[in-house]
Amino acid sequence: MPKELQIQVAPEIASDVFLLKEHLAKLLHVKSSEIKHFSILKRSIDARQKAIKFNLKITVFLEGEAIVEEQVTLPDYKNVSNAQEVIVVGAGPAGLFAALQLIELGLKPIVIERGKDVRGRRRDLKAINVDHIVNEDSNYCFGEGGAGTYSDGKLYTRSKKRGDVDRILKLLVAFGATPDILVDAHPHIGTNKLPQIIQDIREKIIEFGGKVLFDTRVTDILVKNNEIQGILTQNGDAIEAQKLILATGHSARDIFELLDKKKILIEAKPFALGVRAEHPQSLIDSIQYSCDFRGEHLPPAPYSIVKQVNGRGMYSFCMCPGGVIAPCATSPGEVVTNGWSPSKRDQITANSGIVVELKLEDFKPFAKHGALAGMEFQKAIEQKAWHLAGQTQKVPAQRLVDFTQNKISADIPKTSYVPGTTSVELGQVFPGFLTQIMREGFSQFGKSMKGYYTNEAILHAPESRTSSPVRIPRDNESLEHLQIKGLYPCGEGAGYAGGIISAAIDGEKCALKIAESLA
Ligand code: FAD
Repeated sequence: MPKELQIQVAPEIASDVFLLKEHLAKLLHVKSSEIKHFSILKRSIDARQKAIKFNLKITVFLEGEAIVEEQVTLPDYKNVSNAQEVIVVGAGPAGLFAALQLIELGLKPIVIERGKDVRGRRRDLKAINVDHIVNEDSNYCFGEGGAGTYSDGKLYTRSKKRGDVDRILKLLVAFGATPDILVDAHPHIGTNKLPQIIQDIREKIIEFGGKVLFDTRVTDILVKNNEIQGILTQNGDAIEAQKLILATGHSARDIFELLDKKKILIEAKPFALGVRAEHPQSLIDSIQYSCDFRGEHLPPAPYSIVKQVNGRGMYSFCMCPGGVIAPCATSPGEVVTNGWSPSKRDQITANSGIVVELKLEDFKPFAKHGALAGMEFQKAIEQKAWHLAGQTQKVPAQRLVDFTQNKISADIPKTSYVPGTTSVELGQVFPGFLTQIMREGFSQFGKSMKGYYTNEAILHAPESRTSSPVRIPRDNESLEHLQIKGLYPCGEGAGYAGGIISAAIDGEKCALKIAESLA
């Protein structure tokens, strides 16, 4: 019988196969040569003590024991070319995993995506970074793979259903992601690896009879007697189907406006908003690992922090160790930040959204917009930031301590945000109550993370697309829209996910409900 061990080892042992084998041999009182094979099942870092340890769960096979390990493979997809069609709007994680699940269930997905394929998208990312040109259909949020493509690819979620999470992680491995994501407590993929995985998913969808249409924006949803009939595209083409998964993400403002105009029920939803903070990665390493230098055996350190200030949560969001701040606007005339990292997280800066939870009452000044009040609140801040920074893709920026002291920064050093920064007093970007909370919250952060509260840190504004400002309500059981039969609001844009994994899980859930309703 193979032995399963739960051990704690120093980083230099965890990262060296030879040393780890020696260590296991000692623990099992065998010679190293008697260990035929071992595999790590779970890995996490315990940085609470000064001497940092790796927690490892390992299976060890000794000489004479049969090596039995689970193989990760794709499901047995069958061709669905002639099967019943289901429209999936949006090729983000929700849409793509819905499409795969539909194929697995014998249904034909027609995936409709306003943006370009992953390779075509790159040109538009260059245009926004270098030429300050925002393509409204192809940017960091829109295009194949959705908002998750050019990201850090963090794959953790608060979802309690471990089985659902594991299923998505295994599918990602079957599509080429590193098997490490099945082992690490905080797995991530990285911007350089994600596009190929997404392209392989699309090719599989097409190979098994699904359709994927790029450069195709949905401009209307066809409804008769409160039942879905299909969609219209920007060219006036109609595509008919009785089932529609709407997975257009949190930035598809035209879709929210369309639903509102058609009197299809939507609701304002609280979200969170703030800034993106950038520190030297070496500083974050020294805080998190209590050391002067990280050394070669530890990964660039992440951080996660939350404080209650004036009755509201202020917290780190989508933290990217060794990463870059990206211009994530989806329309001209606005600026938006978020972050990405390559798989090695080897850039010299660490960035994180630092956001404050909003309440519905905060949207009161925009009440005339009804269910779109939160979206208009968000838009107004993004547009103000654009004006204040000079009406390009430069963002308003301020040194952290200067911000808390309401002092304009004399200079802003070059940051990882490629379009550039303009020194602005960030209190001008936000409503007064938000500025107050952030000022207080940052000094509290400094008490928990010694060294965090420093003028070396640069704040970029705003971080505003944390989750959807709108919910598209659906029945808890059938997952159909409360009024419109055949419409399945799905993923982050509809308010049912927050991140790559939960969006993918929600995509699968909607596909399963459609198959159930047709059975
Ligand atoms: P989206 O990914 O937003 O996809 C929606 C798709 O619908 C888009 O491709 C869009 O083009 C398309 N669409 C919109 N309107 C229309 C229309 N009218 N017609 C046709 N198509 C349309 N999450 C993590 O879990 N980990 C991370 O590390 C992480 N990093 C991120 C970094 C960045 C820079 C960004 C922007 C986001 C990051 N996120 C991360 C968030 C994550 O990407 C989203 O939570 C996730 O992509 C949501 O999935 P979704 O499928 O619901 O929507």
